[in-house]
Amino acid sequence: MTDAAAFDAACATALDAARAADQRDPLRAFADRFLHPVDAAGRRVTYLCGHSLGLQPASVATLVREELDAWARRGVLGHHDGARPWIPYHERLAPALARLTGAATDEVVAMNSLTVNLHLMMVSFFRPAGARTRILIEASAFPSDRYAVESQLRFHGLDPAQHLVEIGPRAGERVLRTEDLVAAIERDGERLALVLLPGVQYLTGQCLDMAALTAAAHRVGATVGLDLAHAIGNVPLALHDWNVDFAIWCSYKYLNAGPGAIGGCFVHARHGQDTTRPRFAGWWGHDKATRFRMGPDFHPIAGAEGWQLSNPPVLATAPLIASLELFDAATLPRLREKSLALTGRLRELIQTWLADTVEIVTPAEADAHGAQLSLRVKRPGTTSRRLDERLAAEGVIGDWREPDVLRLAPAPLYNSHADVVHAATVLRKVLGP
Ligand SMILES: *Cc1c(COP(=O)(O)O)cnc(C)c1O
Repeated sequence: MTDAAAFDAACATALDAARAADQRDPLRAFADRFLHPVDAAGRRVTYLCGHSLGLQPASVATLVREELDAWARRGVLGHHDGARPWIPYHERLAPALARLTGAATDEVVAMNSLTVNLHLMMVSFFRPAGARTRILIEASAFPSDRYAVESQLRFHGLDPAQHLVEIGPRAGERVLRTEDLVAAIERDGERLALVLLPGVQYLTGQCLDMAALTAAAHRVGATVGLDLAHAIGNVPLALHDWNVDFAIWCSYKYLNAGPGAIGGCFVHARHGQDTTRPRFAGWWGHDKATRFRMGPDFHPIAGAEGWQLSNPPVLATAPLIASLELFDAATLPRLREKSLALTGRLRELIQTWLADTVEIVTPAEADAHGAQLSLRVKRPGTTSRRLDERLAAEGVIGDWREPDVLRLAPAPLYNSHADVVHAATVLRKVLGP
């Protein structure tokens, strides 16, 4: 057999195994509840980009349309009337968000977008005093997080060169080690005001040991914030039990709520119930019973809702209601089980077919990754044209992050085992053996 014929045979075998796994998949029907993008010829593409923008649930248009109709028919009365009155609209989301984050309902709130929430949380939870002035982040932090952190330091008159501590992987390594982060936390000890870390790192797909890192930061008296942009709806979370101080996220990645959808925030009950904590206030954070008396004094709602500023953007919130219904129907434990199987299959195929060409950056241990695999092309020259564009030309959608990472994430709500085999086959075709 020629190499090409042997590879075709291997593909056929892999596809048979994948189709059998899809037949056994209890969640397979959920794929039909999403709208799948197509290429220029109208053919459905293999979409492995849910880590960047999740697909649209088919029910979104109905939910948005209902709010447009309510606005059209009732105008301002829609605030109080109809199937989903707008004043308490965001409250509908809290139970499902609490289930996804391992929180009590009043520890979470849907509001704003991620970076805005990060600033609001730092206003309350980064309060440098005395020697305790530093913020610890990871060296490859998402740019928006870094800008937010640096600007907060400067806002307090602190120079990031002195007060921002960055921890990266060891020389020659690509992912973070828990023990290195813990050592850095202990090294800065009483100088550390805030530890801000991702749940799942956006570039490498590494899932950090959030419980251990929170405990380490608390041992030195620091506050812990988590950025869950790539973690929520992807990996199991237990924010309350881990004792995390605050967390923030967006909803357009694994939560499939659409571009610019409403984000979210977690505030641990031990802080949320303390209504004296300094914060930037707005009327939507004011006690619901007296909000519309329009009085001059601010009385925050106890819990995460007390950090709201404005009334929620209903049209950017309706899609999240549609999406969270799917999460509640599928449930995170079942999604996680399927996710590990899909991502495990992708890893295995890449290792078998592309061992010489591709390095998998994402850790292999189940508790150290989510849906995403981050790949580096080893062979010089092969990246001359961006790999994501070459894949897209073959109907596989992933994305590229400078300088050299291709990210692929099978999403268990709408991707199949056959999708994974197809993506690996195309990757091999594009990169060669
Ligand atoms: C996606 C992402 C963001 C996006 O921030 P927005 O304020 O929603 O635009 C921020 N931080 C991280 C780590 C992300 O992955």
